[in-house]
Amino acid sequence: MRSDLEAAAHSARGFMPHEEGIGLYETALRITGPDPIVEVGTYCGKSTIYLGAAAIEIGSVVFTVDHHRGSEEMQQGWEHHDPEVVDPETGRIDSLPELRRNLEQAGLEHVVVPVVGESQTVARHWAGRISMLFIDGGHGSDPAHADYEEWTPKVAGGGFLAIHDVFQDPADGGRPPYEIYSRAIEEGGFEQFSSIGSLRILRLPI
Ligand code: SAH
Ligand code: MG
Repeated sequence: MRSDLEAAAHSARGFMPHEEGIGLYETALRITGPDPIVEVGTYCGKSTIYLGAAAIEIGSVVFTVDHHRGSEEMQQGWEHHDPEVVDPETGRIDSLPELRRNLEQAGLEHVVVPVVGESQTVARHWAGRISMLFIDGGHGSDPAHADYEEWTPKVAGGGFLAIHDVFQDPADGGRPPYEIYSRAIEEGGFEQFSSIGSLRILRLPI
C-alpha cells in the first residue's frame, strides 16, 4: 500500500487496526469484474482509506454508506463515545465533516463516494451488483441482521464479503457480527476466504 495512504489511514480516527485494514486492502486488490466496492459504516473513514487505496490500484470506486449519527454504542454515555465527533450546535454526533477532511487530505475524493443515509434505505434502492461488501455498521442485533439481509444478496458471484468485529468467544465482544458471519456461511452460500483479528473475509463462488 502506498506509504502516504498508509500514513493517512494511521492518523484517521476510527476502529480499524492496521493489520485488519491491510486485510481489506489486499482483499480488494483481488477483485475481478467491474462492480464497485461498498462499505457499510464509514465513521471518519479510517477503513475507507484502505479500501480507497486498493480502488486506485484496480481502477474501482468505493461507495461508503453512513448516516453519520453514530451507532447506539457510540452515543453519549456509551463505550465508544467520542466527544470530539459531536456537532457543538446540536449536540448530536456528526462524523461527516471529519470524513470529508480525511478523504481530502488522503487525496481519495475521486475514488470514494460518501453516501449519507440510513443503510437499509440505501440498500433497498441500490440496484447494482457489488464486487466487495464490507459490513461495519450498527452492531446491535436489528441493524446488523438488516445489513446482512439487505446488502449481501447484491454481492456478485466471485465477490467478497468482509465483516468486522466478529468474535467467536462472546467474552471478546457482541454477538450480532458473529451471527451474520455464520448466516453468510450457512444460508448465504459464502465460503471462508481469510481471517485477520476480528475481520472475517468470505467469498461467493462464481
Ligand atoms: N468502518 C469504520 C467504523 C464504522 S463505526 C472504521 O473502521 O473506521 C459504525 C458506523 O456505522 C457509525 O459511524 C454509525 O453512524 C454507522 N451506522 C450505524 N447504524 C447505521 C445505520 N442503520 N445506517 C447507517 N449508518 C449506520
Ligand atoms: Mg468495526
